[in-house]
Amino acid sequence: MNTTTSADSSTDRPRVTVTTSWDDGHVLDPRLAALLSRYRLPGTFYIAPRNLEFAPADRLPAAGIRELAEQFEIGGHTLTHRRLPQLSDAAAAEEIRTGRIELEDIIGRPVTSFCYPRGEYTPEQVQLVEQAGFTLARTVRRSSLAPGRALELGTTVNAYAHRVDGPLALRLAAGRPWRAARLFLAWDELAIHWFDRCLREGGVFHLWGHSWEVEARGDWWRLERVLAHIAFRPQVAYRTNRELLQLAA
Ligand SMILES: [Zn+2]
Repeated sequence: MNTTTSADSSTDRPRVTVTTSWDDGHVLDPRLAALLSRYRLPGTFYIAPRNLEFAPADRLPAAGIRELAEQFEIGGHTLTHRRLPQLSDAAAAEEIRTGRIELEDIIGRPVTSFCYPRGEYTPEQVQLVEQAGFTLARTVRRSSLAPGRALELGTTVNAYAHRVDGPLALRLAAGRPWRAARLFLAWDELAIHWFDRCLREGGVFHLWGHSWEVEARGDWWRLERVLAHIAFRPQVAYRTNRELLQLAA
């Protein structure tokens, strides 16, 4: 079937950007990085170098972070992955700042992108992130093809099946129950659906996740399926999160 969309027939094809980001700094991150490399996809790895939610042996060590930094952007994710709204402003500022300093010491380069742990933050903490020298900050808001504000960057799809995506799947499937069920049950289906829509309409397709979660769910094949689908597209600009700055509001 050869359907001609308005986007295809116009001389100005929609501008399509693909970016990916991966949180926490886990020992499985290099496995994810190898997969991105295979498909020549960019990635931003947001790392909390002393993440208290991981056993020390599960934290990506400095040598691993340096190795990732050779090919990918490294972003700040606080020092210990504390929930920012539970901290005083002074303590939050310290977490944000010291996480950045530790990463910069490890990789020997400026770290300018940040990700709020669990996507939790207060309006005041957005200012703290900016004051700490970050120019871009990612949230965990999904289902967007518009990058949004630079310090509250949205995303498109999480590499994880969220139960709350049921109504969204039904809407995206335009009421077709079988299609909705597939979108709901499989995040790879949802990701491919969003990417194809981005190709038609233009925008930023932002896939993000956690290597440890992909492992826990046995989802490496789903991730590879999505990466294979979104890679090597001549009409797509592949960018790190940092490079989205020029597209953000
Ligand atoms: Zn995190």
